[in-house]
Amino acid sequence: MKKIIVIPGDGIGQEITASAVKVLQKVDEKFKLGLEYDYRDAGGTSYEKFGTPLTDEALDACKKADGVLFGAVGGKKWDSLPVHLRPEKAIFGLRKGLGLFANLRPTKVYPELINSSPLKPELVGGSDLLIVRELVGGIYFGPRCESEQVNGVEQAWDTEIYSVPEIERITKLAFETAKLRRGKVTSVDKANVLAASRLWRKVVVDVAKHFPDVELNHLYVDNAAMQLVLNPKQFDVIVTNNIFGDILSDEAAVIGGSIGLMPSASIGELTSLYEPIHGSAPDIAGKDLANPMGTILSAAMLLRYSLRQEAAAKAIEAAIDKTLADGWRTADIYTDGFKKVGTAQVTEIICDNL
Ligand code: NAD
Repeated sequence: MKKIIVIPGDGIGQEITASAVKVLQKVDEKFKLGLEYDYRDAGGTSYEKFGTPLTDEALDACKKADGVLFGAVGGKKWDSLPVHLRPEKAIFGLRKGLGLFANLRPTKVYPELINSSPLKPELVGGSDLLIVRELVGGIYFGPRCESEQVNGVEQAWDTEIYSVPEIERITKLAFETAKLRRGKVTSVDKANVLAASRLWRKVVVDVAKHFPDVELNHLYVDNAAMQLVLNPKQFDVIVTNNIFGDILSDEAAVIGGSIGLMPSASIGELTSLYEPIHGSAPDIAGKDLANPMGTILSAAMLLRYSLRQEAAAKAIEAAIDKTLADGWRTADIYTDGFKKVGTAQVTEIICDNL
């Protein structure tokens, strides 16, 4: 048996994880995966029940699981709580507790939704890239000073630190991931200016020697930001540090045109966590309006990266492709001439397409 911990969280998290579990159950029937589900709370929902956004018990259950499927957390109701009790703290607790060192964010431009992209169709058509972002190191976690006086002037500073093992770990993951895809890695750094980036580049080159069948190139982050909008089709896997990955993955997310369709994976040493990139969308929660595709595609990533069930993952992705090609649209991606459906119905259609 393979144990999946499902954490619906808040807002539309409840609806979209229910959809993803339905699709997983259907794919399990077909591929005999032996999936088992256990549910835990996080975010505001956990705060209401237990007085904390993430209990130790929930974290322990995740540590023992084969994979974690996460919905979303957050809502106005909890915005005025002290920082340590706010729903978002659950995400940081899981990242830290599970040692989630890499964030994987695919961006795929679906031919059927090409007009939702802010970029010209001829530029984005066929784009299919994956950003592998280092998640627990670099300037977000380095030593910092909020305020100090130097010669009577106030200043503040942050520090970018990367060690060889940290860079090796994320780079290996990027190359292994590229082998499952089109076999190309672009490493993004700022080696013309930053020492930590020069080490980054040196280690990436060393790791690449173990992957002779994967092509490697390097881009400075400023050029990478331009290339993402000028010619996103050139990319397969992009590997980069925490801060550059934070910025580039949001830039890449808009290329696809709909946040409702974007999955993500956060990879840990033992357990990994899978979630859509959007939030809890309180404005549409409980109204059968949420697009569950980002969460369903996150479940496909769970099958691919945690359970090594590539065929089952591909089957889910193909079922989503067919659903879109057949003209079914949730409200967020609906335009005239297509068939509008709610969360529950689109889930049934995806299951039927499996
Ligand atoms: P959001 O992503 O929840 O929503 C932004 C807009 O996109 C809203 O109009 C929403 O209706 C729409 N939308 C989002 N997902 C959708 C889907 N699957 N289908 C259809 N429409 C969808 O961002 P927000 O409004 O800035 O934040 C709402 C709450 O979510 C906040 O409390 C925020 O802190 C939290 N949040 C949580 C996460 C997370 O859990 N990982 C991430 C981002 C924001």
